[in-house]
Amino acid sequence: MSFFEVKNIVKNFGGLRAVNDISFTMEQGEILGLIGPNGSGKTTIFNLINGFYPLTSGEIYFKGRRIDGLPPHKICALGIGRTFQVVKPLKRMSVLDNVMVGAFLRTSSIAMARARALDVLEFCGLYHRRDMDARNLTIADRKRLEIARALATEPQLLLLDETAAGLNPKETEEAIEIILKIKRAGITIIIVEHIMKVIMGISDRILAISFGREIAIGTPKEIVNHPEVIKAYLGEAYA
Ligand code: ADP
Ligand code: MG
Repeated sequence: MSFFEVKNIVKNFGGLRAVNDISFTMEQGEILGLIGPNGSGKTTIFNLINGFYPLTSGEIYFKGRRIDGLPPHKICALGIGRTFQVVKPLKRMSVLDNVMVGAFLRTSSIAMARARALDVLEFCGLYHRRDMDARNLTIADRKRLEIARALATEPQLLLLDETAAGLNPKETEEAIEIILKIKRAGITIIIVEHIMKVIMGISDRILAISFGREIAIGTPKEIVNHPEVIKAYLGEAYA
């Protein structure tokens, strides 16, 4: 039994097949990079995994249990957390309160949710921002807050959608550090990221897709030299 398995998943939006027969398995503790040109279906795959959209067909298994068809809150409760590409903090709330919202998935005690949230803020380097209004955070800190909110739900599998997009080189390095710390904490990760340095540096394996289909899966080294991957990216650059 794999820790996580996606089996022949398909998603149609009207006449558009956004995800076309994607399959992969993951072992616990692994980082899988998911790459592909804009519009190739990466975020949709996350939305299928966390139950935000129903599958058109296919199956998804987490720790041996079939999870497709379950609502997002149940999937989150089972241990799959995610961040969103478009960061949406609850802006009129403090950073701490934002993270406590995630922590309430595991406890109804305010004291425990607060303690958990403070731990996670420390882990993400946001402790000193805990009382700030979330709307006043910089982009880099908003991305950290997204990760902190997801971590507060205590995921075993974490889906990270472009958490380094829009960051400067120093902030990008810090984002990589946080992701590696999450891995060291034993959390399995699927990461969508456009910055090649990030994805190549931290992924154990990479799944490359184009127009919703797998074009290659393998180690970063295998992927970077793969002719179909090069073609998909050059195709985008010259489009
Ligand atoms: P990526 O994250 O790789 O950039 P997406 O998964 O966001 O790509 O989108 C894949 C394709 O599915 C795109 O053509 C996009 O326009 C389409 N799509 C995504 N979500 C929806 C939706 N809710 N309704 C209709 N089409 C969608
Ligand atoms: Mg996307």
